[in-house]
Amino acid sequence: MIWLMVAIMFAGSAFTLCCAIYGILKLREDPLEIYERKALICAAGVPALNAAAMLAQNERTALILFGLYNICETCTALCLLLFIRRYMGITRSLGKFKRLIYIAAAIDAVMMLINPFFSFLFKVEPYYDKFGSVFYRSSHMMPSYYYHAALTTLIIIAILAMLLRRMIIAPKAYVIKYSSVFLSLAAIAAIGTIYICLDLKFDYSLMLYPLVVFLIFYFSLIYVPRGLMERLMFFTVANMKDGIVCIDIDSKIVHANKAARDFCEADIDIQTLDNQVRKWLIENIEPNISVHVWETKRRIDGQKHYFTIEYHRIYDSSVKYLGCFFLIHDRTEEYIKYTAEKYKATHDMLTGLYNKECFCECVRDRLNNDTETGYYIIVTDVKNFKIVNDVFGVEAGDRLLKKISDITAQLGGSDCIYGRLTGDRFSICMPKSRFSEEELLETYSAVDSFLETAAFKTHIHIGVYEVTDRSLRVSVMCDHANLAIKKIKDSYRSFVAYYDSELRENFINEHKVISEFEKAIADDQFQPYIQPQIASNGNIMGGESLVRWVHPKEGMIPPDKFIKLFEQTGLISRLDKLMWEHACIQLKRWTEMGFTESYLSVNISQKDFYLLDVYNTMIELVNKYDISPKRLHLEITETAIMDNPQAQLELIAKLRNCGFIVEIDDFGSGYSSLNMLKEIEADVLKIDMGFLKKSDHQQKSQVILKMIIGLAKSLEMEVITEGVETLDQVKFLEEYGCDIYQGYYFAKPMTVNEFETTFLNKRFRI
Ligand code: C2E
Ligand code: CA
Ligand code: CA
Repeated sequence: MIWLMVAIMFAGSAFTLCCAIYGILKLREDPLEIYERKALICAAGVPALNAAAMLAQNERTALILFGLYNICETCTALCLLLFIRRYMGITRSLGKFKRLIYIAAAIDAVMMLINPFFSFLFKVEPYYDKFGSVFYRSSHMMPSYYYHAALTTLIIIAILAMLLRRMIIAPKAYVIKYSSVFLSLAAIAAIGTIYICLDLKFDYSLMLYPLVVFLIFYFSLIYVPRGLMERLMFFTVANMKDGIVCIDIDSKIVHANKAARDFCEADIDIQTLDNQVRKWLIENIEPNISVHVWETKRRIDGQKHYFTIEYHRIYDSSVKYLGCFFLIHDRTEEYIKYTAEKYKATHDMLTGLYNKECFCECVRDRLNNDTETGYYIIVTDVKNFKIVNDVFGVEAGDRLLKKISDITAQLGGSDCIYGRLTGDRFSICMPKSRFSEEELLETYSAVDSFLETAAFKTHIHIGVYEVTDRSLRVSVMCDHANLAIKKIKDSYRSFVAYYDSELRENFINEHKVISEFEKAIADDQFQPYIQPQIASNGNIMGGESLVRWVHPKEGMIPPDKFIKLFEQTGLISRLDKLMWEHACIQLKRWTEMGFTESYLSVNISQKDFYLLDVYNTMIELVNKYDISPKRLHLEITETAIMDNPQAQLELIAKLRNCGFIVEIDDFGSGYSSLNMLKEIEADVLKIDMGFLKKSDHQQKSQVILKMIIGLAKSLEMEVITEGVETLDQVKFLEEYGCDIYQGYYFAKPMTVNEFETTFLNKRFRI
């Protein structure tokens, strides 16, 4: 019998150790399992050490082993306490109390270790079974032994109290989880107490250790209360926002949550839901398909709702079909948000028409899908829209744009595509069969008197591109229609213009010019030519620097072929900077040649004022080449000044203060009034050559010329007249008091070398 008990104890110990090893190898590393493993390892030691002590060869060894058994017992109780706290989800630290228990356990351990030498806790005594085998058992417990007994009992009571409390307050489903551990621990404690109180021969509670270990191990780490899981799942599903309908193998509805019943409006009548499910199974689900997702719409309380419905088949672990479920997800909110964002990204907010990107995309799709029909791309532009905004206010501008967009959208019906490209530009893609120039003009004439003022009429200019090359990007097609509008830019009535071969050639040419710019700069193809300026006494002190593009293939290209284009693209500032630098280099060279008074005039484009810091660039250049600013004449056109008068007048004053000579170029070509001249404080007035051109109003022109020269003189400005082509002109200009002449009568613009040898510092006999 005793041998059997010893065997059970060793087996129990081995089993406990196996559980610990299983835990180490298979389970996760979380605090709960770490505590559990420690408790398991200690618990394995308890029956093993007790059994070993029983089998000891002599009294001293038995005393040592029983001492170790007691230490192990205390450690097990301690680890169990910590583990059970975790097991019940208590994470609060024990604080000082923990240290107190550790000290008490340490004292207990020291006492157990010295007991074999003094036997002040307990003794051992041999006893014999009926076969005469000798075993040891602990006996003669002294009062000091009760320190150990009290310590372990207290810990066990604490554990039992915690478990008991939890058993009372936890939901029913959890009771088995706590009660099984509670009962087995209580049994151990009870048997252990009986053993001590009755001074039994043997502590039978040790045989229960494997059972406790197994229960704790199973319930803490493996067992999930089944009823609880079902309840949790039930409530989760019931409260889900998505609808769920579970169907068994016989297509019978097993469960449908509230959201699903709401979807089918089947709150009371389950038959409605059943009918709906059957309809889905027949209409949407192909046999043997495992997952299927589709979208559907439904009106609920008068409002349109958008749903995705998912169908899933369920299989068990041996892949046998168990049933299926439908998941109904209401995506109305997402849908509304998505459509609002999509609308924002594809539409113009003011007019509600497509924006440029979306228009181009839709037209591209149409052209790809309908290759039979011929199309026009039409672009409309409001003449002087800027004035509408400036004079009548942005609100009036917006109202006008809305009106145009409404008219545009009614033009061709549903087989047209409409968009707003930018500001006042609208676009239409229209089948040729629908197109009528008269209708276009008639329709847009509705906005002529939109502003209800006789003084200002709004005119719509219409550019049309016939889609002859479908491979072109749609944005380029719109550019073509835009180009056509440029042809009618100055017309003060509504007008239709077509993109034609001339525009096409210009377009290609312009692209070519722009694409060659970089190489031309790098190869020094832009060369300054100089046109001499002759003073009224015949002296030639300088001239105007005019750029020429000396093209390797096309020869010399005049500025009117590229300046405008460079101005549109912003390349002009780089070219002008280069020309100004050339002029400075030239002036420096002339200084070295001894011509310290000679000067050069350079042109400043209107765009330069936006693209460059003109003032600082000029200062840097004259400093770099060490030339006097008065030798660099700066030609600023009258239109550039009128573009932003206040800023320009300030800049002119600053430049003049530094010593630069500022000339007003092309005076009389723009819209400025003579009055304006009083406000412009410049050094030189360059009168536009338009006044000298032969025309029907030649006499009037001469009168004006005389007046301008007189006015300039009275304002103490020097006067240069451009475009002087005949001796007659020289004569009357001399009479009017013109100071300097520039024109073909004297010389055309020429290379720098030519100018130096034939004109610089020479005298012209007039
Ligand atoms: P602009 O500044 O008014 O220059 C005078 C233009 O009139 C020059 O044309 C010149 O060759 C031309 N011209 C001079 N005398 C006569 C004449 O007696 N009869 C006629 N019919 N024309 C005459 P060009 O060199 O073709 O330059 C044209 C325009 O290009 C210039 O007009 C100027 O606005 C611009 N330009 C030229 N070079 C530059 C430059 O380096 N930078 C900038 N921004 N513009 C330049
Ligand atoms: Ca000029
Ligand atoms: Ca000029």
